[in-house]
This record gives sequence, structure tokens and C-alpha cells, in this order.
Amino acid sequence: MAYIINDDCISCGACEAECPTSAITEGDGKYVIDADACVECGACAGVCPVSAPNAE
Ligand code: SF4
Ligand code: SF4
Repeated sequence: MAYIINDDCISCGACEAECPTSAITEGDGKYVIDADACVECGACAGVCPVSAPNAE
């Protein structure tokens, strides 16, 4: 299962650069993860200042 970014996201953009599969893009009010591209590496969760990305 893919990681999902919750509503705590402050759109800082830090996770986008860390994703090895470029699964993260800026969405409407928060960043979003393409579930089909996510390989569950956890890198996004590791850099997020507000712990918004979580494994489902
Ligand atoms: Fe990208 Fe890894 Fe986060 Fe999935 S868990 S969105 S592959 S950084
Ligand atoms: Fe949002 Fe966290 Fe990604 Fe920043 S690192 S854009 S707060 S999910």
C-alpha cells in the first residue's frame, strides 16, 4: 500500500525532491502521492516537518 499525505501538510515541498520515483506532486492545498508510483520507501515521511505522509 502507498503512503498518503494527510491534511497536516503545509506544502513546504521537501518531500517532492526526496521521492525516488517522483510520485509526489503539488496538489490543491497540500502535496499528493501517486499511489501507483509510490514504492513505500518512507523517504517522504523522513523529511516531512509535520509528519504528514503516513503508510496506510
Ligand atoms: Fe515517494 Fe517513498 Fe514517499 Fe512513496 S514512500 S511517496 S516512494 S518518498
Ligand atoms: Fe507537505 Fe510534509 Fe511534503 Fe512538506 S514534506 S510538502 S509538509 S508532506
